[in-house]
Amino acid sequence: MVMSFQFPAYFTAIFIITRVMSIMKISKPLDVHHKDIRAVDLATKLSVDPSAIESASRDFGGIVKAEPEAVLHPSAPQDIAALIKFSYSSSVPFGIAAKGHGHSVRGQAMAENGVVVDMRSMANNRRNGTGIRVSIDRLYADVGGEQLWIDVLNATLEYGVAPVSWTDYLYLTVGGTLSNAGISGQTFRYGPQISNVLEMDVITGKADFLTCSPRMNSELFYAVLGGLGQFGIITRARIPLQPAPKGVKWVRLLYDDFSSFTKDQELLISKNGRKDKSALDYLEGSLLMDQGSPDNWRSSFFPHKDHPKIISLITKHGIIYCLEIVKHYDDRTKHTVDKGMKQVLQGLNYMPGFMFGKDVGYEEFLNRVRSGELKLKSQGLWDVPHPWLNLFIPKSQISDFNNGVFRGIVLERNITTGPVLVYPMNRQKWDDRMSAVIPDEEIFYTVGFLHSSGFDTWEAFEDQNKDIMRFCNKTGILVKQYLPHYSTKEEWVHHFGSKWKVFQHRKYQFDPRMLLSPGQRIFNNN
Ligand code: FAD
Repeated sequence: MVMSFQFPAYFTAIFIITRVMSIMKISKPLDVHHKDIRAVDLATKLSVDPSAIESASRDFGGIVKAEPEAVLHPSAPQDIAALIKFSYSSSVPFGIAAKGHGHSVRGQAMAENGVVVDMRSMANNRRNGTGIRVSIDRLYADVGGEQLWIDVLNATLEYGVAPVSWTDYLYLTVGGTLSNAGISGQTFRYGPQISNVLEMDVITGKADFLTCSPRMNSELFYAVLGGLGQFGIITRARIPLQPAPKGVKWVRLLYDDFSSFTKDQELLISKNGRKDKSALDYLEGSLLMDQGSPDNWRSSFFPHKDHPKIISLITKHGIIYCLEIVKHYDDRTKHTVDKGMKQVLQGLNYMPGFMFGKDVGYEEFLNRVRSGELKLKSQGLWDVPHPWLNLFIPKSQISDFNNGVFRGIVLERNITTGPVLVYPMNRQKWDDRMSAVIPDEEIFYTVGFLHSSGFDTWEAFEDQNKDIMRFCNKTGILVKQYLPHYSTKEEWVHHFGSKWKVFQHRKYQFDPRMLLSPGQRIFNNN
């Protein structure tokens, strides 16, 4: 078990000593042992600078704060392996957390009194870093775990290809989303991002540097995908690619009736073959509630002239459900895509007169959240607390959830600021050997309460989140958290359910000293 680093002084001492050695190395290179050179290298990449510590103590959630003793700025995977080896073989091991882009909301990428590995440092080191390498013949990209998905998109588009499964927001790292699942409107058809990985390089908690795939070190491969950073640090992932579309037909449909909304969603995701040309390329859904504008920071979509009629609809019903779908097109299909979309829309039960469409470039669509982010940043509203709650709910209970939570708790409390997402996906597109936890039913919904709050008001949102979880427990809704956060071991055991034993066994196998991602508080929560 990791001791909480009683070694600020100890580590700082090592730091100073190795720096001294570094100076000695310059004057007496032949006296320096190979092992010491590695320590010297490592020490020069460790920072105890207050600004580095401060930045590693925060995340997008803005709720949890935990200070590490030091931050590693690796320039190559070997630096990470050296750090893990150092802790693994130390009599006083310390926790180590890879920090991707720090977009967790509950301190998952923090390491209190340990060392945070700032993965993004490797992106700045083009010579030693893993970078993004596109193999156009074999239709895959080898991508460093530290890379942002936006950079993967741009690099692959240069070759006219792209990955098939995305997140809504692209300024997240490959290692960060693969440690969770990586879901969006493509998931119903292509599976989450973790279902779209061919192989990975991983440094385990024993400092073993292994390549893994479904055929090679497969136990590690499946453990790491959705593994919440518990088994190893991903330094490279091989992502399959497909020819990229040119543009997308993007449609939103409004419903006042939840049952029609979900029935249509489920009908649409029933066509989900990867090669089925009549299938949609993206499907999501969200709630529109009384917030002054039908648009939110995640996307502005509705024409201004239509805002008044949408707002009066929301005022009348309290909640309006918005179904969002996309069909891709390229040069070959641009003349037939409208016909295809028309066929999709036939027989759907949205409210007449409440269908809105757009035609945008593929990259603009995938990167649709960015402009909202930049706007919020310019207003100083991006770095506010984000008491988010993300859930997976079995299809058979989504109607109870609507009645009890959307129309009950949420409307009654009336504190919602921020998007609320609700859309279904197919279980068969997930791989049960992976660590990610999802409900048992073939179709399940994701619901995301993506709250932004004031610095003094986040607790009210947290109370609402707790109320929602209590309601689900009380009424037997078999909800699973996505991007989970719990504080007790019992809660984690419950979360993993039948997967707990395997998860725990893999932890002993790949990280027996419990070094990695301590901020998840799974094995070190007391
Ligand atoms: P971090 O927060 O830095 O790390 C997350 C966890 O992964 C930590 O435990 C960390 O230790 C571990 N980790 C990081 N890098 C590695 C690595 N290389 N190897 C092993 N472990 C590692 N998620 C979705 O699925 N779909 C969405 O559409 C979506 N949209 C989002 C929009 C916004 C604005 C935000 C803030 C988050 C969104 N998320 C979404 C959630 C996001 O996928 C997770 O929070 C993800 O972990 C963030 O990636 P990151 O690079 O910031 O990871």
